[in-house]
Amino acid sequence: MYDVTIIGGGPAAAGAAVYVARKKLKTLLIAGEFGGQSIVSADVQNWIGTKSLSGFDLAKNLEEHIRNYPEEVEIKAPELATKISKKGSGFLVETDKGGAYDTKTVIITSGARRRKLGIPGEEEFNGKGVAYCSTCDAPLFGGKDVAVVGGGNAGLEAVVDLFPYASKVYLLEYSDGLKGDTVTQERVKNSEKVHIIFNAETKEVKGEKFVTGLAYKDRVSGEEKTLSVGGIFVEIGSVPNSEFVKDLVELNKAGEILIDHKTAATSCEGIWAAGDVTDEMYKQNNISAGDGVKAALSAYSYLNKK
Ligand SMILES: Cc1cc2nc3c(=O)[nH]c(=O)nc-3n(C[C@H](O)[C@H](O)[C@H](O)COP(=O)(O)OP(=O)(O)OC[C@H]3O[C@@H](n4cnc5c(N)ncnc54)[C@H](O)[C@@H]3O)c2cc1C
Repeated sequence: MYDVTIIGGGPAAAGAAVYVARKKLKTLLIAGEFGGQSIVSADVQNWIGTKSLSGFDLAKNLEEHIRNYPEEVEIKAPELATKISKKGSGFLVETDKGGAYDTKTVIITSGARRRKLGIPGEEEFNGKGVAYCSTCDAPLFGGKDVAVVGGGNAGLEAVVDLFPYASKVYLLEYSDGLKGDTVTQERVKNSEKVHIIFNAETKEVKGEKFVTGLAYKDRVSGEEKTLSVGGIFVEIGSVPNSEFVKDLVELNKAGEILIDHKTAATSCEGIWAAGDVTDEMYKQNNISAGDGVKAALSAYSYLNKK
């Protein structure tokens, strides 16, 4: 019987693992892989305390920090949690490797995966011009013409993030109107750098070593066109990895786990959640790590009272 089982291997998991380990809780960490979503980022410049490091190095550091507590934290990776159910006064965590682990509490930090365009070239040029995080990667596109796909808040913010760097920004929206908040819409519409294309159905990412273009179909005229761009930001939302716990904790419409932001508690007593899998507004490494810490301290306090 573990005191705590942490699901995940990203910054939120690392934050939680280091703190529960230092509280000497008997911990199991189950992770698909270590590092989390920014592992593909060429240059992470906002991991506080480090001016610049690759996503790969960040992942390595997180893993090393978790592995620094071998007596307290047992690791199962790569392994995926497939189901969590109530068992006695605790929980049973089942995995894709046939694992079935008894635990008093659970901290879910399984993050999210980016919603993809699902078009040819997208995977091939991921990290080679195709990007999914403008806050992180906009500075890498200095002097380039760039396309942003998605006319919601994320897309609009990506355009704004690109203002200081890109020469020209094409904003492609599938429908015939923008969806983000009015103030940001105005900012985007008023910029001479921005060219908005409505009714655009993206078709193919083109490139050689790096991205050179984005093909799309005008859904009204049926005409196929190609934009000559050096970068493409896909901002059509993300999908929380919450499927394995959907019957136990309350989710919002987007599938994010609803938490009490003061304690990281979910709707199910004994389960906390942190990072991108939750309804946290800002999805960032530092915030996820901090939220993981919060969940760990809450679990510790709960176990102490038992
Ligand atoms: C391309 C890109 C670049 C980014 N760059 C930056 C940046 O520069 N700065 C910044 O602050 N933020 C950046 N972000 C955002 C940042 O990566 C996320 O906010 C952060 O990774 C969220 O951390 P997390 O631990 O909550 O979840 P994630 O990073 O999503 O990690 C989830 C973890 O859970 C594991 N997992 C998933 N499902 C299961 C399961 N069923 N069982 C077990 N394990 C599971 C995964 O393998 C992974 O280890 C970037 C995001 C992307 C996509």
